[in-house]
Amino acid sequence: MDAENQETAVTADRKYLLERIGEAAVVQLYADGFEHLPLNDKILSWHLYQAALAGRDIYYDQRYAHNLEMRALLEAIVTHPDGIDPATLDAITRYTKLFWINTGGFNNLTARKFVPECTPEAFAAAVRVAAANGAALPLAAGESVDDLLARLHRPFFDREFETIVTCKTPGEGRDILEASANNLYVGVTMKDLEGFEERYALNSRLTKTEQGIAEEVYRIDGRYAHQIVRIVSHLEAAIAFAPAPTAAALRALVRFYRSGEIEDRRRYDIAWVADNESTVDTINGFIEIYMDARGAKGAWEALVYYVHPEKTAAVRAIADHAQWFEDHMPWDPQWRKPQVTGVSARAIEVIVETGDSGPMTPVGINLPNDQEIRETHGSKSVSLSNVTEAYEKSMPREFRSEFSWSPDEVGRAERWGAFASELTTNLHEVIGHGSGLVSPQLNGAPEKALKEQFSAIEEARADLVALYFVADPYLVDIGVISRDALQEVVLAEYEAYARNALTQLRRIREGSQIEEDHMRNRQLIVHWLLANTEAIQIASRDGKTFYRMVDANAFREGVGRLLADVQRIKAEGDYEAARELLETYGVHFDPELRDEVVARVERLNLPSYTAFVTPKLEPVHGDDGSIVDVRISYPCDLTAQMLEYSGVR
Ligand SMILES: [Zn+2]
Repeated sequence: MDAENQETAVTADRKYLLERIGEAAVVQLYADGFEHLPLNDKILSWHLYQAALAGRDIYYDQRYAHNLEMRALLEAIVTHPDGIDPATLDAITRYTKLFWINTGGFNNLTARKFVPECTPEAFAAAVRVAAANGAALPLAAGESVDDLLARLHRPFFDREFETIVTCKTPGEGRDILEASANNLYVGVTMKDLEGFEERYALNSRLTKTEQGIAEEVYRIDGRYAHQIVRIVSHLEAAIAFAPAPTAAALRALVRFYRSGEIEDRRRYDIAWVADNESTVDTINGFIEIYMDARGAKGAWEALVYYVHPEKTAAVRAIADHAQWFEDHMPWDPQWRKPQVTGVSARAIEVIVETGDSGPMTPVGINLPNDQEIRETHGSKSVSLSNVTEAYEKSMPREFRSEFSWSPDEVGRAERWGAFASELTTNLHEVIGHGSGLVSPQLNGAPEKALKEQFSAIEEARADLVALYFVADPYLVDIGVISRDALQEVVLAEYEAYARNALTQLRRIREGSQIEEDHMRNRQLIVHWLLANTEAIQIASRDGKTFYRMVDANAFREGVGRLLADVQRIKAEGDYEAARELLETYGVHFDPELRDEVVARVERLNLPSYTAFVTPKLEPVHGDDGSIVDVRISYPCDLTAQMLEYSGVR
């Protein structure tokens, strides 16, 4: 057997789905080709990988003030289990896995709290057994085990206490910051912030003190100093192995971690965008603002990845013609960019994702988020090829058939679903987020005008661009798709998009309201099309509801009309229109319909969301202590990986 055949053999009997915990699926991610990277790129990856792990606890703490203690207690129990009542241990183990997957006790998609399926008394007994077995508990100075349990009782068990991690629609008279359980603000309300001059909008925690509001800056001598010192040391070690443009970006990032100043963040963004030819790249810092109800604070995350050359060719074709797409955007010409700058797009293989991007991960990323830098310096877009692949390979067949109206629809989904979804992800990231102008009056910051509505509006805009152009024959002209396949791909994508508005309801098992921005945007688009076009019909058969896409032309025409309005809202910073649109179509849903969807997926045992176990890197040292190789392996075990990351095992 030659080397290539051996690899195929290994790939064929790969395990993707590792385990199911309630509605979650755990899937192994594979990074093919890593072993063939040049040694320098491998060593660079190794240092960046360590920098990614070094910041993991920042996101835990940002998400919930009690998270790190809760995690330490759970990990103490599951690593010292001898003699714990088996039913209790089982309940705690399940809770712990969901805790790791969601980075704490709030569901990543619904934002709502979940609690262990055992009594507080049984939990306390398990803690005492673990302590007797030698587990180190996260006790404060002078604290007894009883005190610790009392202190963490409400965070673990009280469903009415700190219920939602991010709450953008708390109801009349309630404050969005107070209603959100995250740790981005302490005692601060939106009212307190009126007239407050915020110097570190993206990278600080705001705390109310007697002297007013204090900004605790995330930087090397500020909040999260402990983690940031370690991140910086690994980034500095990486610089020696990085090609010049990457080294420049890493130096700028280190500088930003040291100063925390907005000017240094801008310099870093610019240097990062300029580095668009290197094989290995990283995202490391305070990036996405979805977790903040106010849409200002960046959640910490890190990714390390390398380019997938063949798939990159396809996505590059879209990026290379970005100006054509911009010129044909179905919105008021005044919001079209006359000159599109540097959209660089690549398909990548992810090595590691932590913080806000792991163990649950996006499939596409376009950064930086700074609108002004996007307009003047361009942006970098990546589609996460190995994530999409592992996701597809682990998804049961029934997921498509259950919610499709006809065998034709199922057939199209099976034949073209993966291709169509990767293509629309690419369009979303490369020409979606990258596109359009906003009014100069917004000073390059539409998020300030649209506040808590911004993220969902921006996601809708990018999705609408993708849905609009996926049906454009121009894609055939630039070689992204064959003429024969175009029509089937469009049908597959539009059908899947309509179906998704139903199937995504399975993710929100409580309440009748959606908090997560990507989910809001997808409800918005489908419900707007239902109300304003003939593209989708609601049908029912055997007591089951179906969203049938029946007219692709009407679908595309409607998408164009809605897109024109959404772009106008962003460009003008029209907060009232954004709120109205999302309140009408995007936020609320019928709980009876949700119950039906949940019953259908439960009957088929389909997962609601997927978490990934990422590859593990280990250096191989030569006689002189230098690194002579970096080995990649696949743990295929969530618990082992999480305990290793926490330094417990
Ligand atoms: Zn997006």
